[in-house]
Amino acid sequence: MSILLVEDEEGIVAFVRRGLEAAGYQVLVASDGIDGLALAMSDDVDLVVLDLGLPGIPGEEVLTRLRRRRPTVPVIILTAKDSVTDRVANLDAGADDYLIKPFSFSELLARIRARLRSTDQSRSDVIAVGSLSIDLAGHTAMVDGRSIDLSSREFALLEVLARHAGRVLSQTQLLDQVWGYDFDGSSNVVEVYVSHLRGKIGAERIKTVRGAGYKLHDT
Ligand code: CA
Repeated sequence: MSILLVEDEEGIVAFVRRGLEAAGYQVLVASDGIDGLALAMSDDVDLVVLDLGLPGIPGEEVLTRLRRRRPTVPVIILTAKDSVTDRVANLDAGADDYLIKPFSFSELLARIRARLRSTDQSRSDVIAVGSLSIDLAGHTAMVDGRSIDLSSREFALLEVLARHAGRVLSQTQLLDQVWGYDFDGSSNVVEVYVSHLRGKIGAERIKTVRGAGYKLHDT
């Protein structure tokens, strides 16, 4: 499990990092809002601990922008702003939980564990879309009962499409989620991979919505 800590106070970074590593988590650190947002976009990050008072982009805005791309990644806010209005605003903006500074490490750890547990329960290992099914644990896909051989990138693309089945995903959203936030290669990579996938799962399953993007549908 990988946790991203977005915090500019070195003392807090050091103590949280030590504690989380000792608890067996992989820890990524960003010391400003810009790096924090870029790292948080990655699917490799399982939970974000986010300070609000940050250089670059303030934590509130990091949260709002992150939620547009990753609506479900758990976010725990660290804040010194101990007012009811701020708390409500943060929870409304999509924070899952918050801690008021100063906090104890054991309290943070308890909140993290609780959040990761609830994500695990809501995440099933198999996504089914009509006669297509994707086994996330085994990294395999089946169509009409026959197994499909996919490269890891094709699998990642299919997984994103399947998680949002029936909804249109733009080329930019697919690039961000499958290739990463900073991808700056040729943008027709999405088109190329969609075409590979169509060849393998059946062209009719992935619909092109002109000017908008692609969607996977139930056939
Ligand atoms: Ca700060």
